[in-house]
Amino acid sequence: MTGPRVRRAVIALGSNLGDRDGLLREAVRAVDATPGITVVAASAPVSSTAVTLDGLDPSKPTYLNAVLLADVTLDDDALLDALQAIEATHGRTRDVRWGDRTLDLDVVALDDERIDTERLQVPHPRAAERAFVLEPWLQLDPEARLAGAGRVADLASRLTERTRPVPGATSLLDPAPEPSPGAP
Ligand code: ATP
Ligand code: CA
Ligand code: CA
Repeated sequence: MTGPRVRRAVIALGSNLGDRDGLLREAVRAVDATPGITVVAASAPVSSTAVTLDGLDPSKPTYLNAVLLADVTLDDDALLDALQAIEATHGRTRDVRWGDRTLDLDVVALDDERIDTERLQVPHPRAAERAFVLEPWLQLDPEARLAGAGRVADLASRLTERTRPVPGATSLLDPAPEPSPGAP
């Protein structure tokens, strides 16, 4: 007997409102708890300057971003439904495009598939230009390739914008770090 086809998903997480580290850790747990999705690895969070429709905006709250790898047996619609439901239960609202958000979950890649429907484009059409996607992905897989765009390491090396490491940060699958002495 053969089970449903398993696809390897690369999912990008982002948060710039609320308890960003806690939200990303809860999101990884919620993704893994979804029937049909098994998280196999998660990066540490990295920090990046907010991007709005007008470009980089250091006056906006800073983002924490991460990437997870998962084995998925859900179909495309069910996967996107599951990710959007997790966003919604973590306070995500959609007001302005690229506005501040508690939680964003994007499908970066699904194996080496190319998907172009109204609801879902894979690879994510802006992933190749985003250090906050490519750099945490490279933490998990230095040899990663993005379908149609080549090596993730090469794509990342062409970008001028960089993410910043979060001091003491470890994989989002690890227990939350102890607050540093003197932190509120
Ligand atoms: P960006 O897509 O530039 O990262 P965003 O994450 O802020 O912007 P959202 O408001 O979260 O955009 O999503 C808008 C729509 O994008 C969703 O309703 C979804 O149908 C669609 N979408 C298309 N491709 C994808 C994908 N690969 N991952 C997640 N959503 C996608
Ligand atoms: Ca996004
Ligand atoms: Ca999104």
